[in-house]
Amino acid sequence: MVESGTCLFCGATLHGRSDKKYCDDMCRNNYHHNNKKDTIILVKNTNAILLQNREILRLLSKNNKTLVKKCELVNRDFDFDKITGVHKTKKNEEYRIVYDYAYRLVNEHEVMLIKY
Ligand SMILES: [Zn+2]
Repeated sequence: MVESGTCLFCGATLHGRSDKKYCDDMCRNNYHHNNKKDTIILVKNTNAILLQNREILRLLSKNNKTLVKKCELVNRDFDFDKITGVHKTKKNEEYRIVYDYAYRLVNEHEVMLIKY
């Protein structure tokens, strides 16, 4: 008795070898095509948010260092989770990098922006 699974693409019950993942090559190709499409959409959306984040930081930055109210970022739909890197200073302050800008949460209401 061979345990049967379901096709990763169409969900049909599979018979035969237990390591089978798809009904046939068509389902396999469709599955990979969809995955690729999802990846492209995900990357595109993430890039758009990163670019928007950078633009917000650029607009709000007046000097090399600018202290702004956190709500100014929130109001512009800044996405605090989309960053390109993290930098910790010797004082253990965490700067979150967005390309060539970075921000640090100073307290609940204020954010320090720097041109990185
Ligand atoms: Zn299938």
